Amino acid sequence: MMMNVMEFFKSLPKKKCTKCNNAIQEQADCYGNICEECDHPAR
Ligand SMILES: [Zn+2]
Repeated sequence: MMMNVMEFFKSLPKKKCTKCNNAIQEQADCYGNICEECDHPAR
């Protein structure tokens, strides 16, 4: 059921950046294990 899928994603542990240890937001999945700040090309 849809509700079960929603609960599944809610219960997922938050990713952490391997560089700065900040929590990675869901939309940053494409960055792998690095947060948006550390993946910034200007840094
Ligand atoms: Zn970071």
